[in-house]
Amino acid sequence: MSYIREEARAEAEAHGHEKRPILQAIRAKCLDCCVGQPKEVRLCQAYDCDLWPYRTGKNPFSASGGNPATLKNASQKTPE
Ligand code: SF4
Repeated sequence: MSYIREEARAEAEAHGHEKRPILQAIRAKCLDCCVGQPKEVRLCQAYDCDLWPYRTGKNPFSASGGNPATLKNASQKTPE
């Protein structure tokens, strides 16, 4: 791990962040944006938001559909 990466990780942990899948982090941000309402995240029409394609916790551009274990974990933590 590079020095800069170690520093960035330490800084993130110092601010209470833990390692987690990026789609799960995006999903959490979208739920925060919609006051914890999964239905509002699903209905979001802010199409110009960079997070919009990933708001449901899935990557629509991924041919593989994502890591099954990660997707299962994300859906358990953020029910829709
Ligand atoms: S995609 Fe929608 S819900 Fe998610 S952060 Fe952007 S505006 Fe908010």
